[in-house]
Amino acid sequence: MTKPEDVLKYCPRCGASNFSFEGIHSFLCQVCSFHYFVNSAAAVAALIENEKGQLLLSVRAFEPHKGMLDLPGGFVDINESAEKAVIREIKEELNLDVTEVKFLASFPNEYVFSGYSVYTCDLAFRCKVSSWEHLQVQDDVTGVKFVSPESMDWEKIGAESIKKIIRTHWNK
Ligand SMILES: [Zn+2]
Repeated sequence: MTKPEDVLKYCPRCGASNFSFEGIHSFLCQVCSFHYFVNSAAAVAALIENEKGQLLLSVRAFEPHKGMLDLPGGFVDINESAEKAVIREIKEELNLDVTEVKFLASFPNEYVFSGYSVYTCDLAFRCKVSSWEHLQVQDDVTGVKFVSPESMDWEKIGAESIKKIIRTHWNK
């Protein structure tokens, strides 16, 4: 019961209770005609490898999937490009400076936060960092792990979209 049609009961503009769900994309207020669209939020995920070709995974500090493995990244801010978002998130979570950002692929995801389904379009980027010297986990990350395709434990990855991104990166 976390989907928008289960959670959103009132018109956010006039407060009327006859805020009707119009199918997968939108709600329409029967009183003030406010038309609210449910869209995918843009999010970014970074694929960063060390000198040995191992992929960096982060350990999630918060729900959803607290304690599970993830790719570093997060939501794209309003008025921000996806490339800028990936650079900002890597600095915030790992204190690393990204020097190269290359788009790989995107996958949809449903991210449940505070009891509400946020639909995302997760954009994956292969990134290079200037150095590992200042690596420091912070923000919504509690640790990092470097994995190779052989040592990967897919059960520990929380989000389906992230599994798909890693499989695409490794061509697996
Ligand atoms: Zn209204």
